[in-house]
Amino acid sequence: MVNRSAPYLEGLNAAQRAAVETLDGPVLLLAGAGTGKTRALTTRIAHLLMLGKARPGQILAVTFTNKAAREMKERIARLLGEVVEGMPWLGTFHSISVKILRRHAELIGNGELHLKPSFTILDTDDQVRLLKQLISAENLDEKRWPARQLAHLIDGWKNRCLTPAKLPKGEAMSFDGWGGRLYQAYQDRLLTLNAVDFGDLLMHCVTMFQAHPDVLKQWQERFRYILVDEYQDTNVAQYMWLRLLAQAHQNICCVGDDDQSIYGWRGAEVGNILRFEKDFPGAQVIRLEQNYRSTPEILSAASGLISANAGRLGKTLWTEAEPGEKVRLIGHWDSEAEARWIGEEIEAFQGGHRAAIGRVSLNDIAILVRASHQMRAFEDRFMTIGLPYRVIGGPRFYERQEIRDAMAYFRLVVSPADDLAFERIINTPKRGLGDKALQTIQTVARQNGVPLLEGARVVIEEGHLGGKGLSNLRDFVAGVGRWHADALDDRENHVGLAERILDESGYTAMWQNDKSPDAPGRLDNLKELVKALEEFDNLQGFLEHVALVMDRDEGEAAEEVSIMTLHGAKGLEFPVVFLPGWEDGLFPNQRAMDENGTKGLEEERRLAYVGITRAERLATISFAGNRRLYGQWQSSMPSRFVDELPPEHVEVLTPPGLYGGGYGAAMAFAGANAGTDMHNRAAHADVYNSPGWKRMQARATERKAPVQRKSITIDAEPAARFAVGDRV
Ligand code: ATP
Ligand code: MG
Repeated sequence: MVNRSAPYLEGLNAAQRAAVETLDGPVLLLAGAGTGKTRALTTRIAHLLMLGKARPGQILAVTFTNKAAREMKERIARLLGEVVEGMPWLGTFHSISVKILRRHAELIGNGELHLKPSFTILDTDDQVRLLKQLISAENLDEKRWPARQLAHLIDGWKNRCLTPAKLPKGEAMSFDGWGGRLYQAYQDRLLTLNAVDFGDLLMHCVTMFQAHPDVLKQWQERFRYILVDEYQDTNVAQYMWLRLLAQAHQNICCVGDDDQSIYGWRGAEVGNILRFEKDFPGAQVIRLEQNYRSTPEILSAASGLISANAGRLGKTLWTEAEPGEKVRLIGHWDSEAEARWIGEEIEAFQGGHRAAIGRVSLNDIAILVRASHQMRAFEDRFMTIGLPYRVIGGPRFYERQEIRDAMAYFRLVVSPADDLAFERIINTPKRGLGDKALQTIQTVARQNGVPLLEGARVVIEEGHLGGKGLSNLRDFVAGVGRWHADALDDRENHVGLAERILDESGYTAMWQNDKSPDAPGRLDNLKELVKALEEFDNLQGFLEHVALVMDRDEGEAAEEVSIMTLHGAKGLEFPVVFLPGWEDGLFPNQRAMDENGTKGLEEERRLAYVGITRAERLATISFAGNRRLYGQWQSSMPSRFVDELPPEHVEVLTPPGLYGGGYGAAMAFAGANAGTDMHNRAAHADVYNSPGWKRMQARATERKAPVQRKSITIDAEPAARFAVGDRV
């Protein structure tokens, strides 16, 4: 019974409808951003269920992120209401592979050992730690042959479904001749640990399907319809996985956009799109051309940019949407000015100051960064002005372990009765205080009816403890007492005090001595934390502020700005999108720029295309003339992608009046110059060669960082205003 009037089919255009209604046989839906590929895919699932072509459990739908899977589930539930019970198998390649593997773990093994269904999944840190052990067991020089590099090689092999046995000879001899052997040793070790890494999830599934046709048949029969979103980013292993499962019935529908292939660096192969028609003969290829997401300006800017890529299938996109605002472009003095400006813009949106795009909720706004280290400037700024935000795909700044530890120190110093803070840091760094010692402190504190810190004092005085633990505890308690007194002393600068607390307590040293790869990043975060303190009068004020902001975020209905990486934003859409950090070296990133040929650069350009096409109503691109990278300030040039934007769809904004005029030739780069001729790279070069710019750079380097966080004086004398690094 075909229900032609099904409400969920209404409103689809003819091509979308074809994609939804061509249920049997292979279908490839190849179309540009925002043309409704994901919507067609979701509707297709609803349609399959409504027509009774399959029960929910017989449908397999693969999405690129867990978030996308969740959203698709919600959509289907909305389309169908309560009609259907159960849900399709809907998730990422990895999450579905885990479910399959848990059922057949015992089929994965090396003859002696096999996996158990309870296997654990190692993260990258575990993986690297394990490889380190194996490398040093072979007496290889770990400096010359770092574990990370081996991890990268192994990931690459797994993405291509190459087990140690299948490794081509040349590759087995990589890593100073040890590649193949270490790979084998690593796989054996994982089995002993009853563990797998991410790459194994797919590879184990594929090898198991190949070795056990009966098991494969079982899964082929179960999944009668297979659907794949973001198909352009599948790698070889994922492709093999799909082909094996779809081979029997061939009811597979893949949707993708070659212009949005952004995971080549992780082994994704756009070629899979081209191979589809060969591997699934008779495949119907459907194209969509109408974009339903963005204004004509946004669409034209994105199309203009991507047209600089050579290797494209090529497609036309059009929209019926009303004209909107041009894509905005703005240059800033440094990354913090950029964050500050974006913060102000968002506050202005909130206040309803923008008639052209209507009222915007914070949930409608996203900041999409090229590299996650860019996030900190925004988090810092938003924290300071109390603008709620969420970081998608990672912990928020103030939720990170090292930040929570440091904050616990500050809390204890400010309020010595804060027992939770005491418990968090009493043995961080390790002070040789075991569970027993801590219990003693707890008991004594309870008996005396005093906070733990006071209890610890009693424990010391009454000699309940001995040895190293005792002297460490004595130092700790004395330290807190000293810092507490300093915090009360008006003459003491709280920023310096914070630094001292972290140093004298041994907390900073703990991370300095930590050899794990994330330690440098944590130290950077701690520096960033101390810097954030400058905005406040004292420790107490800072703590209150953070507590308030953090607390408000617990609420369900809270509106928040989203901050995420461009990679993480694939498939998503937001009315208002900010795209900061469009600078050569950051975006496109340095690696792509150094590479021979244009492969890496084209992938970066596709990433830029993904970024712009996330926006529905307003996209704002920005760049900064100075950025702190790995703890050092560096000057930077606007991204070459800025030059590639079609000028007729771009409006160049002049940075706020704070910069206007007086900065002279050097600042022209950020404003007037870009405004009159943003395509003239020679003009940029002129600016950089100008004596004014050089003088500013020299002084900025001298002072290491642009400082002066607090002064918001705009009406100061010009001479004072233009001092280097003064970030009004
Ligand atoms: P991307 O390439 O970015 O993943 P996409 O092709 O998957 O994009 P969708 O996310 O499915 O595009 O759709 C983009 C937007 O257009 C969504 O808000 C969707 O609801 C809307 N849309 C899609 N098709 C239609 C239609 N026929 N009528 C109205 N709105 C539509
Ligand atoms: Mg999509």
